[in-house]
Parts: sequence; C-alpha cells; structure tokens
Amino acid sequence: MKYAVAIDGPAGAGKSSVAKEVSKRIGFIYVDTGALYRTVALYLLNNNIEASETEKIAEALKHIEVSMEHKEDGQHVFLCGEDVSHLIRTEPVSMMASTTSALPIVRSFLFDLQVEMANKYNVLMDGRDIGTVVLPNAQVKIFLTASAEERAKRRLLEYQAKGQDVSFDFVLQEIIKRDNQDMNRATAPLKKADDAVLLDTTALDFNEVCDKMIEIVSSKIPL
Ligand code: C5P
Repeated sequence: MKYAVAIDGPAGAGKSSVAKEVSKRIGFIYVDTGALYRTVALYLLNNNIEASETEKIAEALKHIEVSMEHKEDGQHVFLCGEDVSHLIRTEPVSMMASTTSALPIVRSFLFDLQVEMANKYNVLMDGRDIGTVVLPNAQVKIFLTASAEERAKRRLLEYQAKGQDVSFDFVLQEIIKRDNQDMNRATAPLKKADDAVLLDTTALDFNEVCDKMIEIVSSKIPL
C-alpha cells in the first residue's frame, strides 16, 4: 500500500518550500501539481493562445506532452521533452495557470498523471484540489494557509531573490486575484477538505511549519 499526504492551500502559503523539506525528512516523493498547470500555461503563452480561446486550448492539449522527473534536486517538469522547470516560475505564467486551470479540459488532461504518481510512490502532493478531488483517500490532508499580506511578503522575497523587479502592491493584488479565481471556479475550487487539518502559518517560521507538519503526518502514518 502507498501512503499519500495531500497539501492544499492558496498561493504563497509556503506549500512548496515546506513540502520539499518535509518530503525529504519522511522519504516521500514531493509532487508539485501547480508545476503541471504552469507547464500547460507556458505552452499556451508561447503559442499566443488566450485563456478565453477554449477550442484552441482543446486542440493544443492534443500536442502538449507534460511529464515529470524526480531528481536529487527535486521535481523537474518537461514540456514536449524540454525541461521547463525554471521557465514556469514567472508572474505571467502564474496568472495564466490560474485562469486556465479553471477549465475542466485542462484539469482532466492533468488528472491521470497525478493519480499515477500516487499509485507508484509514497507521495506528498501539493495543489488546490488534492485532498478534495485528486486523492480523496489520502491518509493525511493538510490545508495550509496564511494571511494574504504575509503570503505577498514571502512571494516578493522569492521574486527579488531571482532578480525579478515587482512591487509589494503588485504581488498582493495578484495573490488576491488568484485566490478569488481559485476559490470561485466551478470545477475543483480551492477549499479545505472536511477531513483536512487546518494549518495557519501566518505567525510561524519555516522550521515551525515543517515541525508541525511532521507532527500531523506522524500521527496518522507510521514513519
Ligand atoms: O501552486 P501554484 O501557484 O504553482 O499553482 C499555479 C496555479 O495552478 C494556481 O493558481 C491554481 O489555479 C492552479 N492549480 C490548480 N490545481 C492544483 C494546483 C495548481 O488549479 N492542484
């Protein structure tokens, strides 16, 4: 039997950095599902397809090949064989991923890949609908959140570290817009699963969040 830890929550709640560290400590594969939606979004942006052009998107999906590899330095995502792991980390890709992930055709296109990973490995998978839709039987579900201001602060530091020049207000507005889109879409909206543990990280530092998460996981899975 495989074990699964499902982590959901809004943009910038610290899911991916914490999930990376915790998965290392517990020896599970970390699956970042946001990267899959970003990879589809990158293809659409590169091909000048707009989020409203659903027919073109349906056609594009026939040509898009998304795959993942888990290496020593973490997850890599490939778009038609090309490693795009770094190219997907920009603000335009974030917004396009959020807009196009509302489309059921995009969600079902990426669904099997996520379930396959959980069938093959013990996974710690993060996203927006992992505990509710993708892995409803996960042994552990955690909903990670923080105030929008705190999340914007953290995101800004990430952009600055990469030399991307954006203002706090811009990042905050983008986060609020993305939260609204993710929570209010008809298909697989961002929401806490009934059986998920709520973890608010606003007042916690990185190590405290990791420790809390390990505590929750080890109370439900024999590590
Ligand atoms: O997690 P990340 O910020 O990289 O995700 C980018 C976008 O992909 C999110 O804003 C969300 O709209 C979408 N997403 C999703 N379902 C997931 C993971 C991400 O809809 N499981």
